[in-house]
Amino acid sequence: MIRNFSIIFGLSLLIFITTPEVLWTQSGNGKEKNSQTSPVSESLKNEQLRQKLEQAHRIIYMMGLAEDSTRGHITAKSDDGLYYIKPWGTAFEKVTAKEMQGLDIEGNLVDGRGRVHSEKYLHLEIYRARKDVGAIVHVHPFYSIILSTLFDGKLSTIAQQSVPFTGKIPIFVSPELIQTKELGQAVAKTLGDAPLLLMKNHGITVVGKTLEEAVVLAIHFEQAAKYHLYAHKFGKPSEMSHEDAQKLYKNNYRPDQIKMQWDFWLDRYNELKVK
Ligand SMILES: [Zn+2]
Repeated sequence: MIRNFSIIFGLSLLIFITTPEVLWTQSGNGKEKNSQTSPVSESLKNEQLRQKLEQAHRIIYMMGLAEDSTRGHITAKSDDGLYYIKPWGTAFEKVTAKEMQGLDIEGNLVDGRGRVHSEKYLHLEIYRARKDVGAIVHVHPFYSIILSTLFDGKLSTIAQQSVPFTGKIPIFVSPELIQTKELGQAVAKTLGDAPLLLMKNHGITVVGKTLEEAVVLAIHFEQAAKYHLYAHKFGKPSEMSHEDAQKLYKNNYRPDQIKMQWDFWLDRYNELKVK
């Protein structure tokens, strides 16, 4: 009797451990597209924004833009005027929605707890200067950093991912971390009204009206930088015309197209995570 009970108990435990559904639950992810982030307590403010910010970190990590994953940060502005950021020292692939910190425009922590990233000024001074910006991605991607050391500000329009960046790309020449309000203001001034700032020997800062837009532009710039570097290694690339680039930009970067790209990456992340 006791032996039979042990066998049944052992089999139940084995099924419990190896069932993918259980793995999903343990990893803090639901299967529905809108609940793929860790649960957030009802009492927390800006729940949806927190969850979307968690998704943004996962997508950027999956696409290889955050290999030094505790460094770099993504922020998003809430409807009630706070700026959400992951806590200092937390990895892109691990940070959860409920851990996100809400800052005021001066950088005071007003929602959440823990140590705040010292480069918060990079984000806050851009938000102060650019009322059209709702989200910012700051990361240190491989090809973008190489490009920042070789670049004259004109990206060759080689692929579809290049078309949002046909204008002169601003370059911030100091490799310093942006840990003061003054440096944050200098970053915002150099960015101007561009979608992206290339930071020499450091990385990229990309802005968008929405989190989806900032994430898509950041990933596409890294891919466009790779095309540019490879092509110039072999010779002088044949670029698409400015007119063709503009036409593609208008079509491929509409909000519905950006949403489609975001959803595709999110599905892919969750598929990979299940396996
Ligand atoms: Zn940085």
